[in-house]
Amino acid sequence: MKDTQSIKLLQIALAVPLRRYFHYLPPETGGWEKLQPGMRVRVPFRRRELIGIFVGFTDQSDVAPSKLKPVLDLIDDSILIPEDIFKLCGWASEYYHYPIGEVLMNALPVLLRQGKNATTVLTTTRKKNVLAACPSENTEQSLLLNTEQQTALNAIQAAGNHFQVFLLDGVTGSGKTEVYLQVIADVLKAQKQVLVLVPEIGLTPQTIQRFRERFSILVVALHSGLSEKERLQAWSSAHSNDAKILIGTRSAVFSSMPNLGLIIIDEEHDLSFKQQDGFRYHARDVAIMRAHFKKIPIILGSATPALETLYKAQQGKFIHLRLPNRAGAAQLPEFSVLDIRNKPLEEGLSQAILEDIRQHLERGEQVMLFLNRRGFAPVLLCRACGWMAICKRCDMRMTYHQHSNRLHCHHCASDIPLFTQCGACNKKELQAVGLGTERLEKVLKKNFPNYSIARIDRDSTKRKGSIEALLQAIQSGEHRILIGTQMLAKGHHFPNVTLVTIVDADGGFFSSDFRALERMGQLLLQVAGRAGRVEKKGKVIIQTHYPDHPLLHPLFYNSYQQFADLILKERAGAALPPYSFFALFRAEAYQVEHATHFLQTVKKLFYPANKELQLLGPVPAPMPRRAGRHRVQLLVQANQRAVLQKFLKNLLPEIEKIRQKQRVRWSLDVDPAEMF
Ligand code: ADP
Ligand code: ZN
Ligand code: ZN
Repeated sequence: MKDTQSIKLLQIALAVPLRRYFHYLPPETGGWEKLQPGMRVRVPFRRRELIGIFVGFTDQSDVAPSKLKPVLDLIDDSILIPEDIFKLCGWASEYYHYPIGEVLMNALPVLLRQGKNATTVLTTTRKKNVLAACPSENTEQSLLLNTEQQTALNAIQAAGNHFQVFLLDGVTGSGKTEVYLQVIADVLKAQKQVLVLVPEIGLTPQTIQRFRERFSILVVALHSGLSEKERLQAWSSAHSNDAKILIGTRSAVFSSMPNLGLIIIDEEHDLSFKQQDGFRYHARDVAIMRAHFKKIPIILGSATPALETLYKAQQGKFIHLRLPNRAGAAQLPEFSVLDIRNKPLEEGLSQAILEDIRQHLERGEQVMLFLNRRGFAPVLLCRACGWMAICKRCDMRMTYHQHSNRLHCHHCASDIPLFTQCGACNKKELQAVGLGTERLEKVLKKNFPNYSIARIDRDSTKRKGSIEALLQAIQSGEHRILIGTQMLAKGHHFPNVTLVTIVDADGGFFSSDFRALERMGQLLLQVAGRAGRVEKKGKVIIQTHYPDHPLLHPLFYNSYQQFADLILKERAGAALPPYSFFALFRAEAYQVEHATHFLQTVKKLFYPANKELQLLGPVPAPMPRRAGRHRVQLLVQANQRAVLQKFLKNLLPEIEKIRQKQRVRWSLDVDPAEMF
């Protein structure tokens, strides 16, 4: 029995890199009896004041009573982090081995983390928000589904109101979104809320518009393009159950939604769902746990599902629904793989391609060229001695940008003015070698001077609003030639594009990352999917030096499924994920020995587990130096997830105690998505 006379202590979660809660005395101002878990407090911490989350009461602490300090302020009258988000954060903190305080704080918009008053913003923006999103008079009707769509919809509806993961595996333009919309309609009728997660660059105004046009309810968006105030508004309206649909990128998975009834992850294979620094969670996997805890269905949609996802569907853990054909009148494009070995190329383009582009333009259609490399040329080379311009901080080649006339490092923020003399032999024989989007634009301008060109990459879309303007000008037909990096690959719907050219399909063949081929296949199919989305049949031309590569044929002439099956077979043979489980320790230091030594010490801690785990490293990372720091990594591999988790959990406190830690930055990445 609790002693009612003993002093109650408050357990507080703080966003500090320590894996624990902190204890405080009740505030001297009183009022703490009303505190509930998920409310914020202000506390003294070392020499600062921090905002924290109240977790619960306790009467025990390992801190001497004389050292305990009182809470300074109670901030909220109502709960900001409801019980289900608490549970989800608790799970994520354990699974990704990231401090609970940081995970909980991460679930709140920045302004709330800073202590801003939640209730005043709530009430004032509520009206405005509702007005701004006032549903249009005549909402758009739902379409008559084709047989495959109807089968998918029936399956999802039949699963009713409990946890089930559906993989909606449909080619680009097969009408996945229409299926989402009709499932959503049902959920809304039951007065429930819907969370839709989309990739970072998939959240276009068109996407949001499509949801707003269909339903006469409040739809809000949550993404990195918003101001902090706008993010708080969107969060608040979902938290208060005013917004029935929340469409957001990765971090929206932690949004409070009291009546959540359905989660949809669109383009579930997309890499942007994985946070690559700090709290390295995968939003798709967190969303699946959220649906599991909440006992609701979740739909993962993609034309190119991740191999992890396909494997779970094969094992029967997910229900696999297929849409193999394009919806309505649109047909799948025709593919041709173009062998460019020994062919004369004009700045990377074959004569055959230039001729095709000309024909499509003359018919009044749009053409799209995909090249996943921005800048003018990826290499500045001395023709006399072979020297190349290298970033001093990363040891990587610098890209020449003609627009700024500078050399940029794409791995750190450095850039320097272009120079004319070789850094080794001083001769003035430097040459820009290779093809980037700027150079591609130049060669197309020369060949097709009468047609306007739109280039979409990170350089051409830096200004706020510029991407919207470019997309608008493409839709209106002002631009006839579209050049882009992967920014152009996803989500966009360009009805008049009938020719898509993949200028260089060979990038993925040389990477050391075991997922490179999977990624390449996904990206190329997504790009190809931009062709012929309406009545006109599209054409896709792929330039390659490896026309006989065993994966190209299945990818373009058969199906993604065949391509995926071949890679899965290889992974099974090599015991790579999804047939095994990875955790990656990374360490960075100005002196390579510090990083290596730290990871050697970590490795020793794992030795008792030699039979159940494989340890690879420490070895230099595929990118051995970035921004001046040497990068070393240690890979831990297990055949069972639970075994891996058990060791990580037991050893992390030991790792925290390693002494030379101060000189290195280190991190742990559970289920790493990239191995660099
Ligand atoms: P996805 O999300 O799979 O890429 P969309 O849902 O965007 O596909 O559909 C592609 C196009 O097909 C859209 O223009 C959409 O309006 C149309 N469409 C979808 N379903 C149908 C249908 N059942 N009948 C006619 N057109 C449809
Ligand atoms: Zn650099
Ligand atoms: Zn030289």
